[in-house]
Order: sequence, then C-alpha cells, then structure tokens
Amino acid sequence: MNITSIKGIGDKTAALFEKLDIRDTADLLRFFPSEYDLFGPVTTIDQLKCGEVAAVEVVIISAPVVRHIRHLSILSFNVSDGHGEMNIIYFNAPYLRNSIKKGERCIFRGKVMMRGNRFSFNNPRKYKTEEYDKLAGTKQPIYHTTKGLSSSAIQKSVRKAYEAELYIGVNTPGSPLYDTLPEEIITKRDLMPYYEAISNIHMPVDDEHLIRARNRLAYQEFYEYILRMSRLGTYSRPNSYPMIEVADTLRLTEALPYRLTEDQTAVWADVRRDLSSDKRMVRLLQGDVGSGKTVVAVLSLLMCVCNGYQGAFMAPTEVLAAQHYDTIVRLSDDYGLPFKPVLLTGQVKGKARNLILEEIRSGEANLIIGTHALFQEKVEYCKLALVVTDEQHRFGVLQREALAQKGGEPAVLIMSATPIPRTLAMILYGDLEVSTIHTMPAGRLPIRNCVVDTTYRPTAYKFITEQVEMGHQVYIICPQIDSGELPGVENVSDYSKELEASLPEKIRIGVLHGQMSATMKDKVMGEFAAGNIDVLVSTTVVEVGVNVPNATVMYVENAERFGLAQLHQLRGRVGRSDVQSFCIFMMNNVSDRAKERLDILVSSNDGFEIAAEDMRLRGPGDIFGIRQSGDVIFNIGDIYQDSELIMWAKEDASKI
Ligand code: ADP
Ligand code: MG
Repeated sequence: MNITSIKGIGDKTAALFEKLDIRDTADLLRFFPSEYDLFGPVTTIDQLKCGEVAAVEVVIISAPVVRHIRHLSILSFNVSDGHGEMNIIYFNAPYLRNSIKKGERCIFRGKVMMRGNRFSFNNPRKYKTEEYDKLAGTKQPIYHTTKGLSSSAIQKSVRKAYEAELYIGVNTPGSPLYDTLPEEIITKRDLMPYYEAISNIHMPVDDEHLIRARNRLAYQEFYEYILRMSRLGTYSRPNSYPMIEVADTLRLTEALPYRLTEDQTAVWADVRRDLSSDKRMVRLLQGDVGSGKTVVAVLSLLMCVCNGYQGAFMAPTEVLAAQHYDTIVRLSDDYGLPFKPVLLTGQVKGKARNLILEEIRSGEANLIIGTHALFQEKVEYCKLALVVTDEQHRFGVLQREALAQKGGEPAVLIMSATPIPRTLAMILYGDLEVSTIHTMPAGRLPIRNCVVDTTYRPTAYKFITEQVEMGHQVYIICPQIDSGELPGVENVSDYSKELEASLPEKIRIGVLHGQMSATMKDKVMGEFAAGNIDVLVSTTVVEVGVNVPNATVMYVENAERFGLAQLHQLRGRVGRSDVQSFCIFMMNNVSDRAKERLDILVSSNDGFEIAAEDMRLRGPGDIFGIRQSGDVIFNIGDIYQDSELIMWAKEDASKI
C-alpha cells in the first residue's frame, strides 16, 4: 500500500517519509526503531539527580520570559511541585511563550541539569497527566527522524500501517506481514512468527518479546543477505587481466618519505603475486585505522595502469572519495606517476559528468575514483582490470552485485578497518583471501586517552580552549542530531548552542550531521579542513576516512552509548601528525560496567583486540546494548554479537 493510504498522511508528509526511503507500508514496517526509551514513573523535584532523565508533575509558577544571547533566544520559566522548584528552558523556541500558561498543571520530562544551585530541564517534553499515565512503565520506540517528521509522528504512522495490514491479513502473499521464511526453518530455529516480530519490534509487549522479535528479524536479515550473496556464485575465475611487475611501483616505494612497514611490504607482495598469477585476485586487506592501507591500494592501482589497464577505487562517502582523489593527484605530481585519474560521485552532474564518462569509455582516464556512482549503468569501462573498495564493511553484498553487473571479472581488492574472523569474512564478502596489517607505522605519538564523567566538563572546555589557542582543532561527537529522539542523550543542535554560550566568543564552532545535504556537508568539512572552523560538533558522520591532521582532540559525549570499535574509529581521526593528540571519552551515564568497557580503549590501541574485548565483556545477553557501528551493512543484525544467528542462517540458506 502506498503510504498516502494511511489516514493523516498527505502528499507533504509522504515527501518527508520519502527522505527516509519510505514509500509504502512495507517500507514503513521495515523501518525499525533505532532504540527504545523507557518511561519511568513520575518523581518529585527533591528526588532529582543531575544527569538522569526524569518526569515531574508540576504547576507553572512564573510567566515565561524570553532573553537573547548571541543569536540564541532563551525562553525560561519556573515550576513547582510542592517538594521543590525548578527552572525550565527552551532554546530558540520563542513561539512557545503563548502555550505556556502560569498556573497550568502538567508533566515535564527531560534530562536533569544544574543551573546555578537549582535544577533545570532544557527543552523538555510536556505532557498532560493522563497522557503520561499511559506511557509510564512502557518502552517507547525511537526512530531516526528527518526535519519536519518527528519520532512520535513516525510511531503513529507505523501503528496505523500495522493495523491496516493486519486487517488485510498476514497470510496473503505480498502482504508486508507475510512470512517468507520456510516453515521448516521457523520451527527448527524456534523463531517468532514474522507478523508478531514486526509488532513487537515497534510496539514491544515486554523485554522477552522484544528480544525474540529482534532475533527473528536479525536472523531473517542474515538469511536474505546470504541468499543474495550465494546467487552471485563464486568469485573464483581465471585471471582475465594478467599483469607483470613494473618499475614504477618500486620507484614509488623508494621515493616515498617513509619506508613501508613489514606488514605493508608483505601485503603488497601478496597483491603483486595475485595480480600476476593465473587466478583472479579477490583479496581482503584488513588493517587498523591509520595502519596505512591506502598506499597498498595506490601501489596496486599503479601496477594495474602501468600494465595498460584501467583501475577503479571506490569509497563509501563523497568526502572520502574526494580525499583519495586529492592524494592520488598529489602523488602523481610529486613522483611523475602515469595515473590519469577522474573523480566520479553523485555530485558531478551535467556536462562535466558526460565528459568524465567519455574519458572512462575511451580509456583516456585510467583510474576512476568515486562512490558507488562508479557502478551505475551509464558508466562504461575500458579494460577495467582492478577494483579497490575502501571501507568494505559499508558496502557488503552491494559491492559484489554492482561489480557483477559490470561483468568483465576484474581483480578485487577490498579493504576494511573492521576486523572479523576469516569464516565471517567469507560469509559477508564472498570467497576471498585475507591479508592483514597488524602494526602501525613507527614514530607516531600515542594518543592520550581519558574516560571521565560530566563533572569534568568545565576542565575539558578549558582544555579545548587551550588547544584552539595553540592553533589546533577539535572534534566533538554527540550521538544524535536533535533533542527530539532521546532526552538523556546529547545532541548536536543543542550542544553546539550550549557550547557557543560556554566557550570564548572567538572560537569558531561548526556543525555537521547526516541530515545536511551532501553539498553542505562538503562545505563544512572543507571549512574545517581549511582551518576556518575550530571546533566541529558532529554526529558520527566523521567516523570514516576523514583526514584533518591539524585536529588534535577527539571529544565524545555519551561515549558509553557507542561500540568500542566505533569509538576506536573515531579516535583514528586524530593523531595523524607528529603533534600530541588527545581523546576524551565523556560518560554521561556512569556505571562500573561502562567504565570497564571504556577503559579498554585507554589500555589498548589495537582495534582487533578492542573489538574482541568488547564482545567478551558484553556477552550474548546485551541484545539492545550497543551496536558496534551505526551504519554497517545490516539494519538490525550485528556481526559482532550475532555470530550464532549468522551461522544458522548460513547453514539453512545453503540447504536451499
Ligand atoms: P588507513 O589504513 O586508516 O586507511 P592511511 O592509509 O590513511 O590509513 O594512512 C594513515 C597515514 O599514515 C597517512 O598519512 C599515510 O601517509 C601514513 N603512512 C602510511 N604508511 C606509512 C609508513 N609505513 N610510515 C609512516 N607513515 C605511513
Ligand atoms: Mg583508510
């Protein structure tokens, strides 16, 4: 059913849903919550604890006042519940003034802060008493949102869509609630029926149902992925583009300002041997962030073009693709390499694009760098002999499907900073050989780490200010974009405003997140790279690839909410020069367990070890714990914690 058939969704709302890739009820029902918010009972003001999320039932005792600081408008008023008084604040929402009435009784829910010596809520949600009573004690889903479409609006639409589809019937093939898994598997693996799983993932009855629902949906995701992968058959083929060793690669390794590490040398030897053997190369190159995978890619591509073939270099984001392009252009200029590179991303349009496409078709361009735009229909290659994919864990089966469509069976080198065992790599990426870079280039100053709680924040701000005064730059990571989603969790938009009020005025603060247009993102990233922004408040969009060597501080708010492997990736954004860099992991929700986890990051700088320790500490019960990474290839499944489900899915799928 088209989404507009749901009551209350007109063309305007449908356009917003479209931004989230939701067009019909099936898309909507498969749009799973990113997490859940547990609504506690109402408490009293004297019981509040700084930093926690709480709800209080109060009477508004002062009329709202609006003040202006810099370009901020701050609306504030006081409330009382007979046990105490507190202050309520809304940023940049002066229009709320009319809906806040002195004498009104209502419930506010938000994160408890201290302002002077009294408690306050910033941007809390307001509820009528009977409204809140219904929510208390329940787990409410939180959805990823887009501007103009809130999580609760999505929740309402999901409920309506579910009811409408249930009415039509779950046994009708084609219904988004129809169970597509063979009965045999459902029984054997004791899986929750599909329609029930969909219901519980969006509207959980209780934790037990939620866990079963989640496992069922994760299983299904793996199963379908494995089927897709197996439909592509084996990678293994004769080598259609045999190459010989060339002088330029040796010349480059000797001319570089550094020597290749032992591991880089070994991996490069593997690749050279593969490219000149009679079997097609399909190799996974694993190596921690900063271990120097790019140079291996460059050498492989250089061997390819020197043999008269074309090579392609694919990255998951436009920012990263542009960065690789710049690196290669610079290397070509400095060392006179025979690369004729072009950059092809979704942003290159019109005439410029046609020109590039023509250069690719004619073979005039011998190296094509870009995003997945590289594998769109319109792109015709001329003797494409090698495809290098960076950050493979972002592509998964998509990369293989795209490659298969182009035909020609080029050699494949895929690179990943996410360490996984070989058996898992074979399932996720196909049948391939694995090479690993274990050690870091010598001579880097180890990053200094600290795990702290919010009482340390003023010190951290002072530290940041000092670093900026020394001419360095800072990343600050918040888990979400707006306050709309999770109340207890820092968000980029409020945080950057708070920061403007707390840091000296001369410090230039920038904002970056995934809901900004690609052009805006590039602009902000460009400004940051050029040093025109001192402090970049961002979501994890900077996680992959970004390289600004002048940035020396990585400061992560709500660090307890991230997977350690992801934090490690974030940390990889600093320590990229010979200047001392620092990582501040801020725990907003302090627990021994969180501290124990985060301390692993302090004691180890080895991504492989970190991921393994994290898995060991979390154990199988932590289903809704932390995902390793927000946007790896699976929507709900997690390759780190679901290895058993993956093995089941593999076994079951291979029987088909
Ligand atoms: P990643 O493996 O995360 O992709 P990069 O390839 O971006 O890492 O390398 C990180 C940095 O290390 C780059 O600035 C690169 O020039 C540098 N580098 C790579 N290999 C070496 C080496 N053997 N010695 C010193 N620096 C190196
Ligand atoms: Mg890299």
